Amino acid sequence: MSNPLLSTAALPAFASIRPEHIAPAVEQLLNKADAALALATSEATPADFEALSASLGVATERLGASWGAVGHLNAVANTPELREAYNAALPAVTEFFTRQGSDERLYAKYKAIAASPTAATLNPARQQALKLWLRDFVLSGAELHGEAKTRFAAIQERSAELAQTFSEHVLDATDGYAYYASADEMAGVPADAVQAARAAAEAEGKEGHKLTLHFPSYLPVMQYGSHRGLRQRLYTAYVTRASELGDKPEQDNSAVMQELLQLRQEEAELLGFANFAEASLAAKMADSPQQVLDFLRDLARRARPFAEKDLAELREFAARELGLAELQAWDTAYASEKLKEARYAFSDEAVRQYFPVPRVLAGLFSIIERLFQVTISEQPAEVWHESVKFYRLERNGALVGQFYLDLYARPGKRPGAWMDEVRSRWARPEGTQQTPVAQLVCNFTQPAGDRPALLTHDDVTTLFHEFGHGLHHLLTQVDELGVSGISGVEWDAVELPSQFMENFCWEWEVLQQLTAQVDSGEPLPRELFDKMLAAKNFQSGMQTLRQIEFALFDMRLHAETDSAAQIQAVLNEVRSEVTLMKSPDFNRSQHSFSHIFAGGYSAGYYSYKWAELLSADAWSAFEVEGVFNAETGRRYLQNILEVGGSRPAMDSFKAFRGREPQIDALLRHQGMS
Ligand SMILES: [Zn+2]
Repeated sequence: MSNPLLSTAALPAFASIRPEHIAPAVEQLLNKADAALALATSEATPADFEALSASLGVATERLGASWGAVGHLNAVANTPELREAYNAALPAVTEFFTRQGSDERLYAKYKAIAASPTAATLNPARQQALKLWLRDFVLSGAELHGEAKTRFAAIQERSAELAQTFSEHVLDATDGYAYYASADEMAGVPADAVQAARAAAEAEGKEGHKLTLHFPSYLPVMQYGSHRGLRQRLYTAYVTRASELGDKPEQDNSAVMQELLQLRQEEAELLGFANFAEASLAAKMADSPQQVLDFLRDLARRARPFAEKDLAELREFAARELGLAELQAWDTAYASEKLKEARYAFSDEAVRQYFPVPRVLAGLFSIIERLFQVTISEQPAEVWHESVKFYRLERNGALVGQFYLDLYARPGKRPGAWMDEVRSRWARPEGTQQTPVAQLVCNFTQPAGDRPALLTHDDVTTLFHEFGHGLHHLLTQVDELGVSGISGVEWDAVELPSQFMENFCWEWEVLQQLTAQVDSGEPLPRELFDKMLAAKNFQSGMQTLRQIEFALFDMRLHAETDSAAQIQAVLNEVRSEVTLMKSPDFNRSQHSFSHIFAGGYSAGYYSYKWAELLSADAWSAFEVEGVFNAETGRRYLQNILEVGGSRPAMDSFKAFRGREPQIDALLRHQGMS
């Protein structure tokens, strides 16, 4: 029996892969990768870029591609058998890539290449790939020896444990809370949320409505619940989760946070950095903690007058219309929702009627074809579900790349939207040109009956966002595996192309081509568009300051060497610097700030705003020169999309924009100018 996971065909045989194929295929591919690693690091292999590529590069790419297909099916067509086979194989695959990433002999081989006279003769993409390999080795401790190396490994292990403990405390504190609200207390909450809460109480044989701190339960009360006491009760429970003010001392994250910050500082010092923020930024586009702090403070200063206006309006409205003389932290979401309704009433349902999927896709494809000189055509391919489509991108008749499009939610499919690589552009060592293939996955509502599926405007924005990542992967002209497409792009710059694409969804000229009322075929009316636009920028000043509060807190915690002992003090300072509405003294939101204590955002939370600035400023070139300007499209294609990770993102940005990024466009796009 042939195993589809071992096939060397150009595309994965998605419909033929069965759970029982996984173990034997992974075993065989891992053996080959192991043998290739042994060979690559042996005396027999010269310190030569080509030689390493031909042995180790080929074997690990093969392993990665097959494992990628398995992971993809696990995400979009999950079954208990598949999950079991996936989980059984996962540790061995992870172990191999971790081992490869810290193999000292391999590191020595790369260093020897970099030190040899041939290094200067490598093409720029290869030089960049080599530079990134060496950097990543150094950041994983490859330059450390003896006691320092042992200590570094121990820090890594302990930090992983602490991050896990942090998440568990947050999860347990979230899960563990329940309040059973009376019918009176539930006043104003939408009917579906009330029913869900009633059903949850009933399932436990209890009276009333069971409320928890999970978002689907918590948020409707905070946004719509008119019972102020209930809002205060839930808010208090929410912002004291996993803290010393929570009801379970064993879930308090105070000590976990302190130890994590101490270990991060120690780790950074072992690597030769002054603080953890510097170590984190070594692989990012931002140059220094100071640059990030300056950026955040500049943005805060400019957003502040708009935030002050937002807050004054909200206070005035809450006092006049809602009888809330003094606005409290547990009132803001509620009062904001009421103010938004009063000002910009329109229903998402009405908007959806204008976005049938076939029209949206046709409009999206035509934008891509016009701006980037490609043609897109649907092609037959083996897929994992009948609703999945497969497309081919060509330029002047030549294949550029291909992508799968899996739009709809269904059982066994992970929620959310994402772009994933099936394979990357690569001039293979054996002499063939590999073209990129992507998967674009969304979870939109399926079509009902024979009517086309209808998208909300949020859905459309999500689709454009993922296509931005997809085009970055597919339109690359770089032939070197580690830096083609999105590979090797700095973490804080990778959202530039995706957020860039979202801008099309807010252009009147574009929307005329993207919309057709499902019955009448009429495009989106101007009046509805204006309301959508106004609602988009609602309270953008206040929201910006809120994001800056998180980002500034994160950067200061990781840039100040003594922050571990004074987390609350740092937060208080940040709040007094940027926050307009004082948080209650009992607010301990840092104790559930999983992004920075248990996620990948430590000294990286600023990236949200950073990438927004880059994409807004890139977009402003199109605003000036015309949304469909072919020349601007060509410059964007050549300077940003095609070069991928083959040079620093700042160089790419400057090549496109002719200058460093500026903040004005970001403010203008959010109605703050
Ligand atoms: Zn994204």
